[in-house]
Amino acid sequence: MTDSSPKTQNEAPNQVNLLVWNIDPDLKRKFKAKCALEKRTIKDAITQLMTEYLNRHESEPMLDLRALGRDHGITVIDSGHHHCAEGWLQTHCPFCSPGRGFHLGFSLEGGNFHCWRCGSHRTWDTVIRLLGSEAAARKAWGKYQTDRPHVSPTKKVRRKTVWAPPGLGPLGKRHRQYLRRRGYNPDRLLRDWELIGTEHLSGPAWSWRIIFPILNREGRVVAYGGRSLSDKTKPKYRLPEDSQITVNPKSLLYGIHHVEGDAVVVVEGPADVRRLGKGSVATLGTGWNVEQAVQLKRFQRRYIMMDPDSSGQEQGEKLANWLGMYSGETEIIEGLFCDPGDLDQKEADQIMKELVE
Ligand SMILES: [Zn+2]
Repeated sequence: MTDSSPKTQNEAPNQVNLLVWNIDPDLKRKFKAKCALEKRTIKDAITQLMTEYLNRHESEPMLDLRALGRDHGITVIDSGHHHCAEGWLQTHCPFCSPGRGFHLGFSLEGGNFHCWRCGSHRTWDTVIRLLGSEAAARKAWGKYQTDRPHVSPTKKVRRKTVWAPPGLGPLGKRHRQYLRRRGYNPDRLLRDWELIGTEHLSGPAWSWRIIFPILNREGRVVAYGGRSLSDKTKPKYRLPEDSQITVNPKSLLYGIHHVEGDAVVVVEGPADVRRLGKGSVATLGTGWNVEQAVQLKRFQRRYIMMDPDSSGQEQGEKLANWLGMYSGETEIIEGLFCDPGDLDQKEADQIMKELVE
């Protein structure tokens, strides 16, 4: 097959070609140069460049963002702001909010950038933005590389025993009524999720709630959460103070101890997990954070099933984009007309059967 006519050379990129385009601007430049200088077919040039790239990437050093920030007057922090998380550096996002907010995170393990507001960015694009020009980025590129992986410089000491709300007791009549009214089987929930309850003696913050232990992957209780029996009580969901939780509160994923196998369904709230059952986890809010996402990327199949409202969908999309950087499949489950927790039990069981089993 002779396929090196000028027409082919100029044709739209095929899939491999697109891949090259998306990986590395430097590669794109080299690719153009190679085709022009050596008059090679696109396919040959790409194959060679891809091999080169992949070989290089295996042992590629990563960006030393701390040093880059220090030398260029860019504020880079690892603590002291609510966007900070263990294993991440934060800086102001030059894409969506220059000069404020510390939205842009840099993973010390993965070497990737992710902004809380505008999503993931390639390292190269980010360095250009941070330094103001491609020329400046090119100059800095070689200088700020370091061996991977970084070691997290700070390890916070957390308390060893988990705090429990005062006055805990078994589910009482009112707790069971509440659950039945919402179409749950209290005994099934008791068996799978070990729900407990508080009555009037647990103080203003914790009285009259259904209390759910939150377990880590190893099955150890790391925190307790509470759902009020009345929708008038604010907040409806309550978690203890950060200092009363034995792990980083940002890393909590309700239901993670029940996920077996390589698939996980990600939802917003504990009520959704109770409806969908084992194999689903809740981010405990509409938003999610990188500490949680890092745990989710270990699963080969990730199904994101946020509430159908716009903020739920927006966060779901951002999470999908983030997870999409890693191997495995990520899928957003669309077409829900209600929160997963409000689904009919039979319908929920059917969905989980299709997704997880
Ligand atoms: Zn941003």
